[in-house]
Order: sequence, then structure tokens, then C-alpha cells
Amino acid sequence: MAHKRSIFRSEELSGSLGCACFYCQLLIRTDRIINWTDQRNEKGKTDLCPNCRIDLILSNKFPIDDKKYFKEDFKKTF
Ligand SMILES: [Zn+2]
Repeated sequence: MAHKRSIFRSEELSGSLGCACFYCQLLIRTDRIINWTDQRNEKGKTDLCPNCRIDLILSNKFPIDDKKYFKEDFKKTF
């Protein structure tokens, strides 16, 4: 489930240059992310998409430039 992998991943994201929003399928430079949720959670905060504000940000450890991945995994998640 991509959603579970996207939360509490701020640390992982800050080490990568690119990420993508799983919801709007936008490729985002990591430094464009300026909003977070779960800021009080001890596991770490969760990034919010600057476009749709949904917490489905994936780091570039996932095949984020592969539209097919989005299409197929997206269907399983929603
Ligand atoms: Zn988005």
C-alpha cells in the first residue's frame, strides 16, 4: 500500500531531490514541500502535496516517473 509508505517519511524525503504526489501524480522537487501534518507524532511528520494538500507524497525510491506505476498502484489503493 503506497499510502502507508508515504506517511512518516519526511526524513527519507529530505534525503532525496525529487518526490511525487500519488494523488495528483505531480512530480515535485522535495524543497517545494512546505506543509506537513503529524508534526507532533514521534515517528516523524508527513509531507503534504503543495498542489492538492493530500499526504500521499512518495520519495524517489519509488518509480515516481513511471506513469504505469501510478495508474496500477493507484487503483489498488483507492
Ligand atoms: Zn497532489
